[in-house]
Amino acid sequence: MLFAVFLALFLPCVGMSVVFVVYMCFLCYATTNNSSGRNNNNQELPDTKPPKEKGLSSAQLDKLPKVTGQELVLGNDCAVCLDVIESEQLARLVPGCNHGFHLECADTWLSKHPVCPVCRSKLETQLFNPPESNPC
Ligand SMILES: [Zn+2]
Ligand SMILES: [Zn+2]
Repeated sequence: MLFAVFLALFLPCVGMSVVFVVYMCFLCYATTNNSSGRNNNNQELPDTKPPKEKGLSSAQLDKLPKVTGQELVLGNDCAVCLDVIESEQLARLVPGCNHGFHLECADTWLSKHPVCPVCRSKLETQLFNPPESNPC
């Protein structure tokens, strides 16, 4: 009689344990699969992601027109440091909009943002690689 009671209590416990263990195994298996899958995705993401807006390289900066303060046509105030570009100081000209900035100011800004700090016109990379010389 005692044995029957013991069995009646023990069997459900074993059953529960087995279910629990199987459940844990399943959970473990699912997590391992998921995390490995996620890892793979993470590794692929940076490659497939389009290059985020990046500043210009120093080589590209070198190709931007360099003028002196007196050659500036659109005023000689540097919008980066809000100082005046003296006529004998070197300035960097943004191609397209012709806004000028101190050489160092322009390089600092443009190495982080490929846009003109004044009018936000974008510095296209084609500017640095003109598509062949003119037809004449
Ligand atoms: Zn400046
Ligand atoms: Zn501009």
